[in-house]
Amino acid sequence: MKKVNPLYEGKAKILWETDDPALMVQEFKNDATAFDGTKHEVIEGKGRLNNTISSHLFGLLNEKGIRTHFREKISETEMVVERLEMLPVEVVVRNVAAGSLVRRLGIEKGATFDPPIVEFYLKDDSLHDPILSEEHIRVMGLATPEQVTGLKNAALAVNETLGSFLLERNMRLVDFKLEFGTVGGELVLGDEISPDTCRFHDAKTGEIMDKDRFRQDLGGFLEAYNEVLSRVSS
Ligand code: ADP
Ligand code: UDP
Repeated sequence: MKKVNPLYEGKAKILWETDDPALMVQEFKNDATAFDGTKHEVIEGKGRLNNTISSHLFGLLNEKGIRTHFREKISETEMVVERLEMLPVEVVVRNVAAGSLVRRLGIEKGATFDPPIVEFYLKDDSLHDPILSEEHIRVMGLATPEQVTGLKNAALAVNETLGSFLLERNMRLVDFKLEFGTVGGELVLGDEISPDTCRFHDAKTGEIMDKDRFRQDLGGFLEAYNEVLSRVSS
């Protein structure tokens, strides 16, 4: 398998076409962005950390029988993935109230949800990723009702597997965002699973170990990502 052309460059990653039409190389950049890209910094070492953390977590999900695009980590900042037809929908699972949920609904920060909440957002920066109901998904033709059920079930299965794995390593999985695609009609988890796309808190101290350190200018960004890596690889 050989990397050929960059197909798409986003805010955090570059997707490369390869000489195998079924496979792509997903390269993690050092760019950190927040608030629809209005806050932007280059943080040396971030690409390596997110690629390594994501590879570990996708490897775990693959082992547990959850269908993901991840094949293998091939360098510090690159992984081989299956090429998917992405659904323009972000799936968010929340175990604990934080972020936009608190801002939008006034729910008390730290409130817990059991069963967890599953939400859908439209992946469209120009519209600021608005929240979607299942009816919106249906009328906009973003996914079939069967796919919506599949997305929810897969997201909850990821939550179960990841939540207990992280708790064993003294981390609380507060919330996270997933992106799915299809290959041959099958729903497959794509994109990344990292402290950029999840909220991880130290289970004992509540210390923030994710991109909120960048969003809120808390400092200690690389230290927190390094600590996540050391815990997920233990
Ligand atoms: P953004 O587009 O939000 O700026 P990124 O920099 O993370 O995001 O770019 C990665 C892009 O690649 C996203 O649009 C994501 O949906 C897409 N993607 C992730 N995994 C796959 C895959 N396996 N096949 C095709 N596209 C993928
Ligand atoms: N998230 C993400 N990309 C997005 C929006 C959200 O990875 O475009 C993640 C975010 O890191 C958090 C979860 O999804 O783990 C829920 O985010 P929320 O809706 O609270 O939004 P935010 O506080 O990031 O504005």
